[in-house]
Amino acid sequence: MELKNKRVLVVGLGKSGLSSALFLRGLGAQVTVSDTRSAEALAKEIPALLEAGIMVESGGHGLLTFRRQDLIVVSPGVPMDTPEVKQVKAFGLPVIGELELASRFLKGKVVAITGSNGKTTTTTLVGKIFEDAGVPTLVGGNIGLPVIDLVAKSTADTVSVLEVSSFQLETVEEFHPWISVVLNITPDHLDRHGNFENYAAAKTRITERQEADDFLVLNAEDKPTQMVAAKTRAQIYWFSPRRPIKQGAFVHGESIFFVAKEGGKTEPVMPVAEIALKGAHNVENVLAAVCAARLAGIPAEKIRASVAGFKGVEHRLEFVRLLRGVEFYNDSKATNVDAAMKAVASFAGGVHLILGGKDKNSDYGAMAELLKERVKIVYTIGSAAQKIEHQLQGVVKIVSAETMQAAVTEAAKTAVAGDVVLLAPACSSFDQFENYEHRGQVFRQLVNELS
Ligand code: ADP
Repeated sequence: MELKNKRVLVVGLGKSGLSSALFLRGLGAQVTVSDTRSAEALAKEIPALLEAGIMVESGGHGLLTFRRQDLIVVSPGVPMDTPEVKQVKAFGLPVIGELELASRFLKGKVVAITGSNGKTTTTTLVGKIFEDAGVPTLVGGNIGLPVIDLVAKSTADTVSVLEVSSFQLETVEEFHPWISVVLNITPDHLDRHGNFENYAAAKTRITERQEADDFLVLNAEDKPTQMVAAKTRAQIYWFSPRRPIKQGAFVHGESIFFVAKEGGKTEPVMPVAEIALKGAHNVENVLAAVCAARLAGIPAEKIRASVAGFKGVEHRLEFVRLLRGVEFYNDSKATNVDAAMKAVASFAGGVHLILGGKDKNSDYGAMAELLKERVKIVYTIGSAAQKIEHQLQGVVKIVSAETMQAAVTEAAKTAVAGDVVLLAPACSSFDQFENYEHRGQVFRQLVNELS
């Protein structure tokens, strides 16, 4: 892709937008960035951009800015139905995302991991297994380091382990993973994708360019991932925590096994009890990681040691404190109903559950059965509180706490030894917090201040 002297617009000035703009400028393109945030809000970023010779449009998008480009690079945070984006697309201007831009320059092989939940955990784990095994590994994507920032470090020998979101997949064209993983597809981000079909279709694009010598790892217990199976040319490897699989990874009895080829031998990988992470959902993440690692030729005993040494990622069912026999867990990253259910299901009972935040057009009623079984009290917070209370009326005792502070104080007061206080809010955080990390930090701090 020749970009020297080409006019390129980067839409959205988040982490990946900033990196993309600087990367493009480095290739000699005439770069403009456009963001709806004000110049004041972008005061930190603008000077560096101007210094690099990049034009900045802030406080809104100008249609003229969009029309005079050779290429438009849209950040994952910017919806593809933004009017200016839609219009130039209709004019036939090439519109791609940061992931696509990066994939045109990234050297070496790609392992791409997507799903509604478990992406960061699985990407981090796969990255660790590859690194521990001595594979020259780069880890990035949705996980924090934009893929474009990996380009300069990539070589013909590196494996880039990438966490990719449905937003990033919406704009791929030539993105071609060697190994793709789809962990699960459950309703999430319906506020932006519109409906479940669109959302699932975006996930399917991970395998669009894969060929017969590539691999696709799918969850045998997750129906929607079967739609992905129907669309691929790659070799499919399934994983299941419940039943033997002909080609892939599974749990049988107390152990994890892998079958490299249908009809071939079943290799033992490790006892489930050696997984350091809590929760049945993490067994699924491990199974997916086992498939990816075995397909990359990493021996089972090495995988076993790496998995046993993996303590998980912050804000994902993270143990915070034991106080008077009550355990406190921070799962601030449980930003949708499915993740929150997985978190609750990780405990046998006695759960005090903090729910709420910004609603994502979710159905909290889906949690009813599980909550009846394992949750003593729900404490609602944030702008979704009313909707949650309405949908869970009569299911479980509910306390309208409104704030995190009140929820933690109340839950700590009520919980008795053996109970669990769990933040698994099933909502995004933007009504009361900067992001889920901030929400998790506030929770942790409040819990650590309890006496
Ligand atoms: P993502 O990057 O896809 O958001 P994370 O690893 O950050 O995934 O986990 C997000 C949330 O989903 C956390 O609350 C975590 O406990 C939960 N979770 C992790 N793995 C799974 C899974 N396989 N299925 C369902 N929920 C999961």
